[in-house]
Amino acid sequence: MLEGGRRGQAGDALRRMVGTITDLVVPPLCLSCHAPLASHDALCPDCWGRIDFIQPPLCDRLGLPMPFDTGGVMISAAAAADPPDYDRARAVARFDGIMRDLIHDLKFHDRHDARRLFGRWLTQAGAELLAEADMIVPVPLTRVRLVGRRFNQSAILAMEVSRLTGIESEPLALLRTRKTLPQVGLTRQQRRQNVAGAFAVATARKARIKGTKVVLIDDVITSGATAGACARALKRAGAAGVDVLALALVTDGILVST
Ligand SMILES: [Zn+2]
Repeated sequence: MLEGGRRGQAGDALRRMVGTITDLVVPPLCLSCHAPLASHDALCPDCWGRIDFIQPPLCDRLGLPMPFDTGGVMISAAAAADPPDYDRARAVARFDGIMRDLIHDLKFHDRHDARRLFGRWLTQAGAELLAEADMIVPVPLTRVRLVGRRFNQSAILAMEVSRLTGIESEPLALLRTRKTLPQVGLTRQQRRQNVAGAFAVATARKARIKGTKVVLIDDVITSGATAGACARALKRAGAAGVDVLALALVTDGILVST
């Protein structure tokens, strides 16, 4: 115990020292507006206040905010009319304003400095799903897009959540089996057709997926078509359950039903 305690204190001291050195090299700045801050990997109060965090009560299947709490598990009209292929989805915030910019930076500008904050947010928003999960699997990019962007942002997010929760991440569990068009500009039906059968569990990973509860990680849930196609592939391979955890959820038009 004493040894462990000493090691813990030494570790804390080292972390403080590294923290101080990092502060000297790169002073902590707001990840969005670059205003000076007291600590790294954070947003200033003003930017924080402009993120539309998704708060309960939620539709249990789609993770959409519900107008009032009726107690127990609630299913939105949208989920009842057109149930998703995944079990439950949760997202940190609505896809607008600062959240949209932060995700865009992660995706296209190689700006990974928000990843620690994203990891903390995902772990909080997905606490219920992660408590039951055996494995974390990121949504894969196509080869072409992987080369163009040089990295898979969902795999980076999955790695962060894995680091914070201790749940294993399997970044190579899902493969794209054919090319798909970018989903942007497609209708809900076209999005489904575009990604139908486009994913499969890698043969070498099939035995690991069988019987496990998977949390799929994506950056944004738009129509839920990509997450749905991934969930079908995981379930075909014998996954006991597939939930989806994302940074943002598009809540205007496509998913919301009244
Ligand atoms: Zn700011």
